[in-house]
Amino acid sequence: MCGVIGICSDGVAWEAYRALLAIQHRGQNSAGILTMNDKFYRKQGDGLVSEVFQNYPLDELKGKKGIAHVRYPTAGTDPASEVQPLFINYPYGLALAHNGNITNCEELKGFLREKRRSLQTDSDSEILLNVLADKISKHGLDEALGQTLDLVDGSYSSVMLLGKDEGSVIGFRDRHGIRPLVIGKKETECGTNYMVCSESVGLDVTGYELVRDVKPGEAVYFSNGSMRSKQLHPPKPAHCIFEYVYFSRPDSVIEGQSVYEVRFKLGENIDFDKDVDAVIPVPDTARTAALGFSLKYDIPYREGLIKNRYIGRTFIMPTQRYRESAVIEKLNVIRKEVSGKRIALVDDSIVRGTTSRRLVNLLKRYGAKEVHFVSSCPPITNPCFYGIDMTIKNELIASKGTDGIEKKINADSVTYQSIDGLVKAIGLPRSHLCLACLTGDYPTCMTCERVKELGQARENERNNWKEPRR
Ligand code: SF4
Repeated sequence: MCGVIGICSDGVAWEAYRALLAIQHRGQNSAGILTMNDKFYRKQGDGLVSEVFQNYPLDELKGKKGIAHVRYPTAGTDPASEVQPLFINYPYGLALAHNGNITNCEELKGFLREKRRSLQTDSDSEILLNVLADKISKHGLDEALGQTLDLVDGSYSSVMLLGKDEGSVIGFRDRHGIRPLVIGKKETECGTNYMVCSESVGLDVTGYELVRDVKPGEAVYFSNGSMRSKQLHPPKPAHCIFEYVYFSRPDSVIEGQSVYEVRFKLGENIDFDKDVDAVIPVPDTARTAALGFSLKYDIPYREGLIKNRYIGRTFIMPTQRYRESAVIEKLNVIRKEVSGKRIALVDDSIVRGTTSRRLVNLLKRYGAKEVHFVSSCPPITNPCFYGIDMTIKNELIASKGTDGIEKKINADSVTYQSIDGLVKAIGLPRSHLCLACLTGDYPTCMTCERVKELGQARENERNNWKEPRR
């Protein structure tokens, strides 16, 4: 998962920087901004946005058009060489920032070999950029993008900066619109500014008004105060449910649905039949669902777990070693809220079970009489190949069913959300959602060979993953 931004504005560098800070939760490995006037300017590096741009004079990023990126690696092995935006100089200056995962990389590498285009990294985003460059060198822009969508499988909500003529910023989404991408607009004395961003919070913090989502299969083009759009493919929506459950910020709006409201309803929609004394959320993502849950069942809501906010998210970290050490370090317990009590511990999901078990053990160590684990997401039974790092099926604790999960995580019981409860909370038609990690029904072509190949590739990448140089 990553975050992308594209801006056409008279304050592009500052706006990109502020919007990047707002979507920092989408990726903490690297950050970058690339702008252009009659040439390109780029600043990027490993680390958080504030680290990459510390003491950097943003005025050096000149021009009125730019794209930006925060990266969370789910493909690729070397953070330093895969920092985005990526840039290529053929057929003219072309830059790309990509959010998602390409699932037919091997086929596309074959296509690029035939075209004598060579790659420098293992990044699927570099493949996407090269396919685009090849198509743009031969066709008009709409045709080139349409053909790229035909060729490339997987998820890609992306932004592109084109150095041709006066330059333009383009945002486009795969035909399923798996990852979010929204359009914002701001009227100023100098004219109309436009922004596309992975989440609407990026628009909020820079004074842009949310216009709408980029449609699945659509490209939007921005140049000098104007916008046009082209539906490249009939949309077949399959929006990722995990964006609502866990990944996006609660103050974002995706496909017209407030993430906060969805999470609140997720809490209300859980069927629960245990006697408990308190509801305790796992901070921060489960707070809203725990609130809905507590109000529905009239059980007191208590903050029993306190998070050290200076330690990054555990799930987003690329290796198990990073995740486990961060879980231990980042939470502390308020003993009085826990000791001698029967607790409903609400979390957004149970993925591998590592975090869940440690949380239960932590509460029991502080004297909890019973811990009943409540997941606001249904059981995750299948891998995700579209940008969430759960590519390896046998790592998922519910991959073979949910029987006995309470024992595995040392809880007194485990209660899951139902798929119907989830769909109802999101408020979009079920047919417009990707539920593949819950049902195994993938929106894109996922043959057994491809599933095996992607799982293996991810495992190899993890083993070869190099820690960022800071
Ligand atoms: S498989 Fe699950 S996590 Fe992956 S895109 Fe679909 S809904 Fe989201």
